[in-house]
Amino acid sequence: MKLTEKTVKNKLVFLGTAGARYASFGLIRQAGGMWLNVEGTNVHIDPGPGAFIYTHRKGLNPHWLSAIIISHRHLDHCADVNHVIETITLGGKRKKGILFCPEDAISEDPVVLKFTRNNLQETVTIKEGLSEIVENAKISFPIKHIHGVETYGTVIKNLTGEISIGYISDTKFFDKLLEAYSGVKILIMNVTLKNPRPTIPHLSTPDAKILIKEIMPEVAIMTHFGRTMVYAKPWEIAQKISDETGVKTIAAWDNMIFDLETLKTVKQR
Ligand SMILES: [Zn+2]
Repeated sequence: MKLTEKTVKNKLVFLGTAGARYASFGLIRQAGGMWLNVEGTNVHIDPGPGAFIYTHRKGLNPHWLSAIIISHRHLDHCADVNHVIETITLGGKRKKGILFCPEDAISEDPVVLKFTRNNLQETVTIKEGLSEIVENAKISFPIKHIHGVETYGTVIKNLTGEISIGYISDTKFFDKLLEAYSGVKILIMNVTLKNPRPTIPHLSTPDAKILIKEIMPEVAIMTHFGRTMVYAKPWEIAQKISDETGVKTIAAWDNMIFDLETLKTVKQR
């Protein structure tokens, strides 16, 4: 199903659900990140490899974007950021768009080229606790994650707070996440691992279960699956977590559209 500038309103589109090396760069699933529309304000979160193509295939045009968020500099989260910025700014013709990213995404060995970034309206360096209003969306970065490189998740709300989404990007599990993302209605988590692996700083399914049980969102969505997760049938794991926690838990699939008003996935032809 193709979306338009009108029908994307208050929708969350999964342009990819792959996480980490094998799944993303082996193209086991797409890795284009998420397109979020909050009351007409469009935000692309983590435009990984292929984001540009998957966006256009969905009928979406990056020129509509008001903001891009890069949670961290790993390429499965930002490989296509320069293409997306070129489209936002019409190849530099219009100064438009705000980029939120950690400092190390734009300092030494930058993943966002100076050339494309100069065409944006603004680049905002994320710091823990930062909160900004971009048109109809309030975008916050409650806590620095533990993931090797500088990494942040985000909480995005509409101005009345009726819509609230927490996105826990790549991180090792730590207790402070529970407080940082408390109160969100929709909780998105990058659950890369099926089983915990102490040396790999990613969330696993038992971590996701703890987060859901403590945060108690109305809906939880798992995404960013590594190879073992994809092969373990994430939809079955999600069903099990739903049964055990009582919180509706969805394993996202590529090109899934989620309605932020009805809190349901949109049936597509
Ligand atoms: Zn990462």
